[in-house]
Amino acid sequence: MIGLLDEHERTLAFAEVALGQIKSLRQTAVPRNYEVWYVYATGYNPALNKIINETLARTGKISETELEQIYDTYLSQFRASDQIDKVGSRVVTEIDDVMKLISEALGSTSAFGTRLEGASERLADARDQASVRAVIETLIESTREMQQQNASLETRLAASKVEINNLQHSLEAIRAESLTDPLTSLGNRKYFDRALVDAVRVARERGDPLSLIMFDIDHFKSFNDNYGHLTGDQVLRLVAMSLKQNVKGQDITARYGGEEFAVVLPTTSLRQALTVADHIRRAVMSKELKKRSTGEILGRVTVSAGVSVLSAADEADTLIERADACLYAAKRAGRNRVVCEADPEYSAEIHIQVA
Ligand code: GH3
Ligand code: MG
Ligand code: MG
Repeated sequence: MIGLLDEHERTLAFAEVALGQIKSLRQTAVPRNYEVWYVYATGYNPALNKIINETLARTGKISETELEQIYDTYLSQFRASDQIDKVGSRVVTEIDDVMKLISEALGSTSAFGTRLEGASERLADARDQASVRAVIETLIESTREMQQQNASLETRLAASKVEINNLQHSLEAIRAESLTDPLTSLGNRKYFDRALVDAVRVARERGDPLSLIMFDIDHFKSFNDNYGHLTGDQVLRLVAMSLKQNVKGQDITARYGGEEFAVVLPTTSLRQALTVADHIRRAVMSKELKKRSTGEILGRVTVSAGVSVLSAADEADTLIERADACLYAAKRAGRNRVVCEADPEYSAEIHIQVA
């Protein structure tokens, strides 16, 4: 009882903080805003608290649009586990129903069998036409009942098939969500890790070349510090878009980490991959950034890239390590450039590390 009361007091305290924030910032008390502030009050989601604190520290307020973005980025992704629970319990209910139906059907089949046996005995004893007819009539009646039961079983199984199909679609949607980065809609790290291992296996089997590009935004920390995390998040979307617009169908794009991106290029030589990387680099720097809310021109961002190509001794992780080493060399050489192992910037880097 004490535990329950404690919980009551504790959650009420969170609710009061949430409402207090909504009042003092003069926001609408819709459930979405309330949820953001409630989670903020609990402190359970440090990333959410960080972004809110930073935005408040910078401007003293948070707009509804900002709150909506915060909700989409930091809260809506947690819905996936709720959805999995719901779909899971629907699957269990559906299986229970079908099992019940099947055992009922088995029951009526065996009852029908018993009736047939009875009829056969009665036929053997039948002395006149009237008693034969009576036995046949009960047989026809039982058969008709059996047909009706079969028909309703068929209808119910058809409905069940539709439901199971729907459940399958829901599970596919959840699976796709769990592999997607909510901010940029690119594949997330989990997706990338799996896709790269698959791509390496296929390249090996077919003897095809396979290239990997790793990107990292230049001086992104100072961009965030100057313009805030939400504007930083817009830049992440812009880089993601530049990636998508410059690759072909079979290529794999992913957000590898905070401000790092990866592109896996099946059946692509190092030379071709360098061209793709450079197109993306140019696409990013060609875009002038404007703050949505004020129209203020924020300038441009650039990216650096490292490119590696699969060698006989490579596994997925060594391919990443080598692209990463090239990316590091690109940073050291002045940023806003693409470096591969054949480049002098890379050899210079190795030289520095060895020295
Ligand atoms: P460099 O050119 O050497 O890469 O410098 P940098 O400032 O980009 O590199 P650093 O690794 O020091 O900083 C990465 C910054 O990226 C830290 C953080 O502010 C920012 N960042 C990481 N993830 C996110 C995110 O999800 N949203 C936003 N807005 N910023 C992020
Ligand atoms: Mg980085
Ligand atoms: Mg960076």
